[in-house]
Amino acid sequence: ATRVRIAPSPTGEPHVGTAYIALFNYLFAKKSGGEFILRIEDTDAARSTPEFEQKVLDALKWCGLSWSEGPDIGGPYGPYRQSERKELYAPYVEKIVENGHGFRCFCTPERLNEMRAAQRAAGKPPKYDGHCLNLKAEEVSARMAAGEPSVVRMKIPAEGSCKFVDGVYGEVEIPWEAVDMQVLLKADGMPTYHMANVVDDHLMKITHVARGEEWLSSVPKHILIYQYLGLEPPVFMHLSLMRNADKSKLSKRKNPTSISYYAALGFLPEALMNFLGLFFIQIAEGEELQTIDQLVANFDPENLNKAGAIFDLQKLDWLNGRWLRESLSEEEFVSRVLAWAQENGRFREGMKLAQSRITKLSDLPDLTGFLLKGDLGLTADDFSRIKKVPLEDVLMILQTVQPDLEKIFEWNAESIEAELRAIAERSDIKLRNLLAPMFIAVSGSSRSLPLFDSMSILGRSVVRQRLKQAEL
Ligand code: ATP
Ligand code: GLU
Repeated sequence: ATRVRIAPSPTGEPHVGTAYIALFNYLFAKKSGGEFILRIEDTDAARSTPEFEQKVLDALKWCGLSWSEGPDIGGPYGPYRQSERKELYAPYVEKIVENGHGFRCFCTPERLNEMRAAQRAAGKPPKYDGHCLNLKAEEVSARMAAGEPSVVRMKIPAEGSCKFVDGVYGEVEIPWEAVDMQVLLKADGMPTYHMANVVDDHLMKITHVARGEEWLSSVPKHILIYQYLGLEPPVFMHLSLMRNADKSKLSKRKNPTSISYYAALGFLPEALMNFLGLFFIQIAEGEELQTIDQLVANFDPENLNKAGAIFDLQKLDWLNGRWLRESLSEEEFVSRVLAWAQENGRFREGMKLAQSRITKLSDLPDLTGFLLKGDLGLTADDFSRIKKVPLEDVLMILQTVQPDLEKIFEWNAESIEAELRAIAERSDIKLRNLLAPMFIAVSGSSRSLPLFDSMSILGRSVVRQRLKQAEL
């Protein structure tokens, strides 16, 4: 039976790209009566957190997608979290080394950096130079016994090319020369993504790997690992990445990319799935409104939509409007609105923040409305009222602040305040002058709820969008 998976890395706010790939796999599984599995790829211990993992699960559930095996519900091939599978990978790495397909590498990060810098300077793509490829077995044992840190790398054929058939791209040929001697096992004993991904797809009996196009160039490594282990690779399907209207790769600098942004703004999950699903199926004009079951019915992996996935926010707006107007009864609509308010952290937290600042409940809309709105529609006029900060400086300040806010790891009032204070100090701007334009960009007015709490409640992606929109 068909078994497919979504394998997110819990290293950031859940991305609409994850929902897009998950939906494809879900449709593929449903269409073929197979299983859709969730696996958490958290081998990057420094960047993975349990909070992000929870957010990925919540986001996919919000999308209306469900899986039959996963870290939250278990299943016959668990655990479904790679950090809990460490011992499972070791024998596979050993087998590769024992059969002469892998080797220990003792190169220090400094040496590797110098090597890459030299390659780049010579106009070549950085690639491991084979420094440790032919170390004698005795030297390897001695250095390991002495406790010198090392990794395991895979060998790559010296010539020829890797040919394979991709379920979407068709025949692909990549010369081995373009493939790096990938690290399989890190110095801390954790496998890399490539190693863990292949072993898990094998152990979890995955039949089809459908994922973003950015992994197409990794397929030769993966095929080689399967070959080294004497295993049959799954069918690979690489989906074109979603793009901004200007054809560049979708990025949060141009479009909001976090699922929670769309949830917070009151897009219906049905509409988002409908929007993403249209990237895969071919339908006639007038049939754009599709429930997930209709998407399954219209989904044909042999006949995918080749139009290219342009993330067109106006189309999403249009579909969402239609979902709200055409697909919900009045009663359903009202309960969706109430549920949105209930589940929307912004509403709840906003009320708490407002409690000590109102005299009657009807003061709430004025005070907290900005927490629920989408685009605030600000103009230069709104900023020109700030005393002591001329309009040119407002723009400069908003632009200065944005990249630094991205660096905040945990988004909360304290971390936001600390970062903004640090920015003010670094850029020699009075804190008050730095915060005044922020205040307006974020809340739309100069008298409102406290800034750091408001930013925390609004969430990273809404704040990012508002600061961007305020660059008038
Ligand atoms: P950004 O460029 O906005 O920082 P990113 O590339 O860092 O985004 P990741 O966190 O690397 O995003 O990706 C998370 C998941 O979303 C991955 O599974 C990736 O395949 C998918 N993804 C990212 N960008 C796109 C895209 N443009 N289209 C489809 N899927 C994407
Ligand atoms: N963890 C990878 C990602 O988040 C999975 C890629 C794959 O599906 O193989 O993109």
